[in-house]
Amino acid sequence: MNSTSRIELSRKALQRNIRFLRRRVGTKTRFTSVVKGNAYGHGIDVFVRLAEDCGVRSFATFSADEALEVLRARTRSKSDIMITGAIDRTQLEWAVENGISFYIFDVERLGGAVEAAKRVRKPARVHLEIETGMHRLGLEGEELDRVVELLGNNRSRLQVEGVCTHYAGPESMANSVRIHRQIEGFNETVAWLGEHGVTPRFRHTACSAAALSYPQTVMDMVRIGIAQYGYWPSEETRLRFALEKELSGKRRWVDPLKRVITWKSRILAVKEVPSGEYVGYGMTYLANTKKRIAVVPVGYGDGFTRGLSNRGRVLIRGRRYGVVGMVNMNMTCIDVTESPDIVAGDEVVLIGKQNRRDMSVASFSEMSQFLNYETLVRLPRQIPRQAVA
Ligand SMILES: *Cc1c(COP(=O)(O)O)cnc(C)c1O
Repeated sequence: MNSTSRIELSRKALQRNIRFLRRRVGTKTRFTSVVKGNAYGHGIDVFVRLAEDCGVRSFATFSADEALEVLRARTRSKSDIMITGAIDRTQLEWAVENGISFYIFDVERLGGAVEAAKRVRKPARVHLEIETGMHRLGLEGEELDRVVELLGNNRSRLQVEGVCTHYAGPESMANSVRIHRQIEGFNETVAWLGEHGVTPRFRHTACSAAALSYPQTVMDMVRIGIAQYGYWPSEETRLRFALEKELSGKRRWVDPLKRVITWKSRILAVKEVPSGEYVGYGMTYLANTKKRIAVVPVGYGDGFTRGLSNRGRVLIRGRRYGVVGMVNMNMTCIDVTESPDIVAGDEVVLIGKQNRRDMSVASFSEMSQFLNYETLVRLPRQIPRQAVA
């Protein structure tokens, strides 16, 4: 394939993240790896295999289409797949047929699940999603009475795997009153379901931020997205965790999360720009002295967002260099004046690490002020991805 950049996924980084997260949530809790958004831009195919190598046996997607990708990628045929969002009627049957579990957030879908189970002669595996305060999707009020009734009438067709909810912003303390109300509401609903004979195997509520900041949300299963890829859900979550460690006074705090992704390209050309000239389109960057500019064949068309114009950073030969001028559709200019030894063909790291000399930050997400989630998800599918040690 003709691509000007490539993505590598580090097995070692993923292993460390998963080991850390498992220790955090306890070994009795099921670890479900969230791989929606093309595995947060990492690529479902490569990522699922890598995660299986690291011991993961449970995956969650948003849509049935993504679930199909996981189904194709998984090599351990027993790895569990759960769909938390979009499934149309025909896909419902497909899901039941393939033993894929899915969320129930309205009575209509539960009816559809019963029908699908009848047609394929297999029980549908369902997770009851409870509305607890997010006000997006979820069962509440009288709907729950009808759900209990339907479950009672279709015991052989419906297997209630889980009862779950999703929190509205556990990555910030500002939302903690709301989160605590959600936890209370969830626990009340679970108790109520129990009184009505519905006792699912997995109570699950925690995403990365909840699992890291609210231990009481961990329960029987966690649904971990961003943290397994090596990113903190927010700076605040990171600081809270660091503070907790520092106060426990054992050792100096070392960030336990390692970035799985490295996004690389190579310098296309290096050129000299005389003092007083502008670089690139328009007049956003004036060379106030003689400059050496390296051109990298990656631009906003490749997911290197325009917000990085005159602000982004990349790594070359283990050091950071700044973006100058506007990021173009397929090209970006880097000021390498400080280093006369940099030449065309040198490796450029756009996200991730390079050499031992710069093991720390080099992600552009902090720079671009986009959330980590958005930056990653925007990485185009056509960039080749591969697992590395
Ligand atoms: C995306 C998602 C998660 C994972 O969230 P992270 O913050 O990335 O850990 C968990 N549960 C549901 C329902 C989600 O949609």
